[in-house]
Amino acid sequence: MSMNTISHYKQTIQEHSAEYAVREALESGRKDTHNVFISLYEERALARARQVDEGTVSGRLAGVPFVAKDNFLTLGGATTAASHFLENFHAPLQATAVEKLEAEGAICIGKVNLDAFAHGGSTENSAYGVTKNAHDTARVAGGSSGGSAVAVALGTVPFALGTDTGGSIRQPASFNGVVGIKPTYGAVSRYGVVAMASGTDTIGVLASTVSDTELLLEVLSGQDERDMTTLPDYFIPQDKPTGKKIGLIKEFMADGIDEEVSAQILSAVEKLQSDGYEIEEVSMPMLKYALAIYYIVVPAEISSNLARYDGIRYGTQKGNDGSLQDVYEMSRQAGFEAENKRRIIIGSFVLSSGSFDAYYQKAQKARTLLIREFNDLFERYDALIGPVAPETAFKIGQNTEDPLKMYLEDVMTVPPSLAGLPAVSVPVGKTKDGLPVGLQIIGKRRDDAQILAVARDVEAQYGQ
Ligand code: GLN
Repeated sequence: MSMNTISHYKQTIQEHSAEYAVREALESGRKDTHNVFISLYEERALARARQVDEGTVSGRLAGVPFVAKDNFLTLGGATTAASHFLENFHAPLQATAVEKLEAEGAICIGKVNLDAFAHGGSTENSAYGVTKNAHDTARVAGGSSGGSAVAVALGTVPFALGTDTGGSIRQPASFNGVVGIKPTYGAVSRYGVVAMASGTDTIGVLASTVSDTELLLEVLSGQDERDMTTLPDYFIPQDKPTGKKIGLIKEFMADGIDEEVSAQILSAVEKLQSDGYEIEEVSMPMLKYALAIYYIVVPAEISSNLARYDGIRYGTQKGNDGSLQDVYEMSRQAGFEAENKRRIIIGSFVLSSGSFDAYYQKAQKARTLLIREFNDLFERYDALIGPVAPETAFKIGQNTEDPLKMYLEDVMTVPPSLAGLPAVSVPVGKTKDGLPVGLQIIGKRRDDAQILAVARDVEAQYGQ
């Protein structure tokens, strides 16, 4: 297992050809020992590779293969969101993110696994089976962008597109030892990506180095008139962090965190200190409510976003020999996974007239207080750090019987999502069992370049 950088691929393309590089990636995808792929786009990928070799397609990523999480609409094969509902769906257009990569000559070789509709943190909720961790096949890849993380960690491709609503890029990046960024909310257009919770949905990338991540974010970010939440382009990579005063979030290092994870984080802290960083412990009392806020607000948005999947407007139809009600019920019954249904039910409940004030409104108020705590800290600190998850990749099946236990895995990733902040996971060593640990670096809004500059200093300490 060895990861590949974008420049490694550029070299291969120069020495051989884009077709050679794409064939190699497809070959590795075909073996698929870890259940990474939902589909391979062989024909389209090879045709595009030939265009690069002929010189009709060029750009900063000319001929470089990548994979997209299967909730990005793409031409060349199916887009399923890892759900039975969309198993026959062939998109009529491509997501803006995919278009932007293609405009630079990059080649999508296929679509990779996720928890159905991105609901989950292990890919165990996929209709296509679980993706195995790159470092231990008895363990989960994490999720929901599990396929994206493993494709990069195994060296099949140098980078992958992912989505992060509450941790879905950062947590699998951490579990597989790759770099994963969830940019500022609005940095990258979500046009053409299957919506989960529109208030916290973000698009990002997983790659093997920080500088590749920067290049990709440069390509991907910017305003898109088809996504009203996008911000005018602000992302310019920085050589160095603008400041080195960092807050280590105390609540993230407290009870419930695995000893080996906390040891790796503390050793990363020491390394940063030796590199001139000033690191202080900071406290955020509102963090204890973050998970509760997330699991009210996000299911509410999910229940409204998924209402359109009814077997008539969207999704595979079932029960069409019965009444209209039968079609709705049977299509939704067959199309959604158990976790999708759980979230729709919770979401509909918290939005119902009797519960709206007590749950949804209250959660939004608490969310505002959480955002204020972040804002106050960013007056004094140039970034905040902590672990990505309380433990390393867990065993397949370990948390599937208990949804609450599964939700607890998200306790450290959901706070920046609720506040719309950029956050990156960068590898900081491994446990005794060889499982990677990620350091999470959180910045203020639009400080994506700053957290990546800090991440590069971390990376340098670990010999990348
Ligand atoms: N694990 C989190 C959840 O289940 C995050 C999912 C995501 O970011 N798509 O909601």
